[in-house]
Amino acid sequence: MPKFEKYEQKIRKYKEKLKKLVTRIGIFSSEEFELVDGELKKLILPCHLGILFYSDFDIDLFRKIKSYLYQVFDSYFFEIRNLGQISFSKKLLSKGVKKEYKETKGINDKLRIHPTNKFYQSLIDIRTKEKLGMIIALTDLPIYSSSDDNILFLFGETHLKHRCGVVSTLKLKEQFYDRQKDNLLFEERVIKEIIHEIGHLLIGFTHCEEKSCVMRFSKDIDEIDKKSYYLCENCKNKLNKIRKDFNF
Ligand SMILES: [Zn+2]
Ligand SMILES: [Zn+2]
Repeated sequence: MPKFEKYEQKIRKYKEKLKKLVTRIGIFSSEEFELVDGELKKLILPCHLGILFYSDFDIDLFRKIKSYLYQVFDSYFFEIRNLGQISFSKKLLSKGVKKEYKETKGINDKLRIHPTNKFYQSLIDIRTKEKLGMIIALTDLPIYSSSDDNILFLFGETHLKHRCGVVSTLKLKEQFYDRQKDNLLFEERVIKEIIHEIGHLLIGFTHCEEKSCVMRFSKDIDEIDKKSYYLCENCKNKLNKIRKDFNF
């Protein structure tokens, strides 16, 4: 029945198209890391925000991050809580890992890169347990996007639906580029990236074109250094609109 076959082919094409679209907007997750979120409720603002560390970080860094977050997002958070440090179990650590060579040429360092969904599932569980509105993690592990296999070595990513985000410090360190350690510069970059990802969780997916705006997309470290910690007027207006919607 050639007519029927044609129809079937059409449906198959449409299914592929749909799958691609869903992957792009981040709802689809690979079989290995099907995100389970038992308590996904609508976000209510202001909310409680938790910051989790998947490796050793200076306690002072949390204090600095918190102070900048309050400067930028003031009344959006009742509380910004330090959730402390955790690490993945050995079994989970090796799950979904991709092995890639370090980006800089001439060096034969093979890096184990972790999918963002691995962090998201762990963050969803903690967000639910701790009754937080949103949660963000900092890790020194390299990360790749679970929704787009082509993006390796991410600075950070958020999952809007599940209200969580992760920032990887690997490429924020001067040492990654074979330059001398610079702690102040490193902290500046970490803070900007955390503000950027939280900005996504509040304002949404879109990036800003304004040069100094923290919501501008940064393709490399220089672009992070060029932008400020703060939101431009346009992004501030978007944030204010949310405040009005939530009536606070
Ligand atoms: Zn972004
Ligand atoms: Zn902006």
